[in-house]
Amino acid sequence: MERIVVMLSDKVQDALNGQLNAELYSSYLYLSMNAYFKSVNLDGFANWMYYQAQEELTYAMEFYDFINQRGGRVNLLQIEAPPTQWNSPQAVFEATLEHEQKVTGLINDLVELALAEHDHASNIFLQWFVSEQVEEEESVTGVLEQLKLMGEAKGGLFMIDRELSKRSPANTSGESE
Ligand code: FE
Repeated sequence: MERIVVMLSDKVQDALNGQLNAELYSSYLYLSMNAYFKSVNLDGFANWMYYQAQEELTYAMEFYDFINQRGGRVNLLQIEAPPTQWNSPQAVFEATLEHEQKVTGLINDLVELALAEHDHASNIFLQWFVSEQVEEEESVTGVLEQLKLMGEAKGGLFMIDRELSKRSPANTSGESE
């Protein structure tokens, strides 16, 4: 029997493959930030980045599975090497926010493309990511604001580190309830 699948257009398929790569890069970036925090003995910050990296990997796999589900062809592209060094925890979270804002832009562009291509299934699939980006930007901004408030006080860094050590797959923000 012939397989009845509403095929992805080449444009949407390429863009979904591009997003798969972007999500894998996000995971790579946060893993590198985990390694940086480990190197400066901020284990709570490292813990937060560890789970952030894992989460990005699950997003990548959602794009991977969706392309396959739609009868498309996954194309694994080269993953860029992330930076390895930052000047401070605040610099790390500034880079994180900047990166998440960039990802939000990519997701929005994908939605625009899905709409232009009348690809409703892709549009619906992407809606979850639109909402998720709001949460990601919010949680990263939350940590960044705490870091800015703390300023030069060393005790503050210690407190935030302890707070971020609470992040787990079940508690994705790391904030205590
Ligand atoms: Fe993200």
